[in-house]
Amino acid sequence: MAQAKGRIGLIGGSGLGAALAAQTKGKEHFADTPFGKPSGPIVTTELDGVPIAFISRHGPGHLLNPSAIPYRANIYALKQLGVTHIIASAATGALVEDIAPRDLVICDQVIDRTYKRDKTFFDAGLVAHVDFAYPFCEQLRAHLLSTAKKLFTGGASDRPTVHRAGTYVCMEGPQFSTRAESLLHRQMGGHLIGMTCMPEAKLAREAEMCYALVALPTDYDCWREHNGDVDKHSLMAEIIANLNAATENAITLIRSAVATAGELLAKSCEHHKALELAIWSDKSRVAPEVRKKLDLLVGKYF
Ligand SMILES: [Zn+2]
Repeated sequence: MAQAKGRIGLIGGSGLGAALAAQTKGKEHFADTPFGKPSGPIVTTELDGVPIAFISRHGPGHLLNPSAIPYRANIYALKQLGVTHIIASAATGALVEDIAPRDLVICDQVIDRTYKRDKTFFDAGLVAHVDFAYPFCEQLRAHLLSTAKKLFTGGASDRPTVHRAGTYVCMEGPQFSTRAESLLHRQMGGHLIGMTCMPEAKLAREAEMCYALVALPTDYDCWREHNGDVDKHSLMAEIIANLNAATENAITLIRSAVATAGELLAKSCEHHKALELAIWSDKSRVAPEVRKKLDLLVGKYF
């Protein structure tokens, strides 16, 4: 196996973190960044020789709602720790019939409908416009899909279906959609609805990291009428059971994808120079304090 040059960052819920923590002994980092403190401690460790860094997106105890997550600090802190590739996982609702709860989706597109989050590192004193036509890294997606194929193809019927693509609609929340909104999201071409992929993926691109998302559908959102006989408590219990089952499958997939990522980490990817043609400001006029604040991200271009 090729020697790993980078580090894989994992952003996910507490299920994923607990599972990895149980398997390995990590080192906790309490980072501070020019964009504030991350959601919580970042744990660095190795899985089969591949260096990883894990952060729980909603923080310890799931206290941060999707609008309150410090996305910039999380991405910046992962960059500080040498992360080059991010695999994120997120619970979602399915907007189409053929994506069933407990399946996994390796998303390929996003529609960003969020409106009250800090979405860029370049909001004052330096302008950068990164290419974002394809928000997820194709190399990383291909690695996840080939890993899924090896893991889940054939055999037992309880193996999850892994969808090769899907458009994730990111809403602000924290309330779920109205039925009219859910139908609108379907009309927009969405396959999944969630609240956390944005601006995470945008910031990863600005920080020149590869990023891929494993989405975990837990229910059919509200466009699809529920069976009238099912009471709300049973419905919630079903959603939680679906989330737990999907999380277990996602952990199996991500763990295996990380363990076999040595060659992927050694490869170059266009996302590691995403800012090369993106800085529109006259560099000679960028204030020293702005340059200093953004040095980790743009230093190599000055
Ligand atoms: Zn990439």
